[in-house]
Parts: sequence; structure tokens; C-alpha cells
Amino acid sequence: MTPFTWLIDQYRHLLDLPPHTARVTLHEGHTPLIPVPNLAKTLGGDFQLWIKYEGLNPTGSFKDRGMTAAISEALGRGARSVICASTGNTAASAAAYAARAGMQAIVLVPQGKVAAGKLAGAIAYGAQVVQVDGSFDEALAMVVAMTEKHPLALVNSINPYRIEGQKTSAFEICDVLGAAPDWLCLPVGNAGNITAYWAGFKQYHAHHSSGLPQVLGVQAAGSAPLVLGHPVLHPETVATAIRIGQPARGEQALQAAQESGGRIIAVSDEQILAMQKQLAGCEGIWVEPASAAGLAGLAQQIETGQLDPSGQRIVAVCTGHGMKDPDIITQGGLSLKSIPAELGALDEIIIR
Ligand SMILES: *Cc1c(COP(=O)(O)O)cnc(C)c1O
Repeated sequence: MTPFTWLIDQYRHLLDLPPHTARVTLHEGHTPLIPVPNLAKTLGGDFQLWIKYEGLNPTGSFKDRGMTAAISEALGRGARSVICASTGNTAASAAAYAARAGMQAIVLVPQGKVAAGKLAGAIAYGAQVVQVDGSFDEALAMVVAMTEKHPLALVNSINPYRIEGQKTSAFEICDVLGAAPDWLCLPVGNAGNITAYWAGFKQYHAHHSSGLPQVLGVQAAGSAPLVLGHPVLHPETVATAIRIGQPARGEQALQAAQESGGRIIAVSDEQILAMQKQLAGCEGIWVEPASAAGLAGLAQQIETGQLDPSGQRIVAVCTGHGMKDPDIITQGGLSLKSIPAELGALDEIIIR
């Protein structure tokens, strides 16, 4: 049996973390890079496509990579409480790692806009969950103001250690493929993750000449400030994890897209939900709506001839697990057939 190596120790030479950083881990990271040939075939063209399945982290999203770093740093400097604003996954992750560290977690979520699996997680891990009658952006502004007044450690992705931890996914991709892919597709909300990936790929390239991907960042059309070029006051999308109108790291996201020769685009909710269904149906990988946005963007680019995938190696980051948001599947009712407990009735249904 291979001994466990903490993600942060494994890549410590590439991570900017202070010496006082403690060690709070739930064995996050080391997620699989899954080839998805069936999906690649339906998208057309002769190319290789992988999914970096971040939904397999301990609390079901990539947020755990950044949280292991941020909470470890906070604990090491003696913080007792952490606070964040969240569309859901950050809340669940902060709550779990704070519990592990013996710290208190306070999480602010936009009222009525958080998927059931995320809210339940934050509560189960024992966080103090506060609903704000406003947007994520307003909740984040409140959190920032609170940390200026009180000794609370802020663990949103404006915390630099979150970015350090999240860079490790780029390192893992390069380690598995032996080089950077040609394209990296991912959803963009508050833009911490795209910032972390780009920083990670650049750093890995400087050390290992691994090459650099072109980055395709994808927003939801109803919450696409980086595509529109201005903040969105009332962001709307079924992909609640990226329902953000004023990304904290928006400038860095635009820079990552530009420097890499990629771009930031928007897709409709219909395209997101269609891709969620397609991925689950043809590859057996169920991701939450936001996590399908990167792939939906790739499909749109191929379809409109803006991206020629031929011969390319493409990685799509699927950021969170489908079980986070069961309501999106069951809403509108389940049209399930009921039958009496008789074999004849079953025969009639399955033998047609
Ligand atoms: C947080 C999150 C995103 C967006 O990441 P940012 O760093 O905010 O851009 C996308 N998908 C899921 C599932 C998330 O939890």
C-alpha cells in the first residue's frame, strides 16, 4: 500500500505557503482524469477528451483543494473561526475542514439559491449557516467587512492560500498526461479556479517544460459579467455555483484567457442542462449543472467552428458532483411508472 501523501506536501516546492501552516486534511485531491471517448465522438472530430473529475473530492467539489491550504494556514497562525460567503460548495468545504481543525465556521449563503446537497452538507458539518436576502456578491462584501472588524479568517478565494491549494489540480493533470493539454475548459464563477489553474500551469511549465494549455472559461449567459464587460446586478442561472455577477478575480480570469490564447464565453442554461444529461447518459458521470458548463462551452465552440479539436488533447474540469443538486433532476416531477407487485405487470413494461 502506498503511504498517504498530503497534496500540499507533494507539491510544496511549487506552493507559496507560510512555514506556520498546519496540516488539516481529508485526503483531498488525487482525483481521476477520466477519458470520455463516447462524449468526444458525439462532439465530432478526432480528438482526445478527458474529464478532471473534481466532484470526487471529500465534500464533493474542488473547493477542498483550496480549503485544505486555507484552513491549515489559518489554524497554524492561531485563528479560531473562519467565515466565507458561498453559493454552496465553499460553505460545505469550509464547514468540513473547520470541523476537522476544531474551528468554528460561519457561512453566508444567498437565500433560496443554494442547492440542497450543499446546504445540507454545511449544516451536517456543524457550520453556522446564515441566509442573506441578497446575492452572493452582497454576501461576500459583508464577509470582507466583518473580517476587517473581527478576528475571523476569511476563506473565500480572495484568500491567496485557496489559490495555492487549487493550483495542485493543474500539476496533477500535467503529471498524468506527461505534459499540459492543448485546451483546458472550465466553468467560471468568482474566477478563483481559472486563476489558480493558469498560475499552476505556468509554474509547472517553468519547472518541467510541460507546455501551456489554451484556456476556455465558460460562464452562464444570465451571469456573464466577463463576457459582457460589466457587472451583472441580478445574476440568474440554474448553475447556482457560478451565479456570480461581479467576480472577485475577474481581471485575472480575463488575463488567463488572453495570455493563453483562449477566451471566456457564455452558454445558455439549456446548453448546460443538455450537457449534464449527455455526460451522465453516455459516460456515466453525473456532475452538477455548473460543472457541465465547461463542456457545454467546448461543444458550442466546436459546433460553431470556432475551435477545431482535430488531433487535440482536451481536458474539461468537472468541478462538483451531481449529487450536490438532486432537485435539478427531479424538479417538474418524476414520471416514474408504478405497477402492482405482479410479474405479469412487469413483463408488460419491459418486454415490448
Ligand atoms: C465554486 C464553483 C465553481 C466556480 O469556481 P470559481 O473559482 O468561483 O470561478 C464552479 N463549479 C462549482 C461546482 C463550484 O463549486
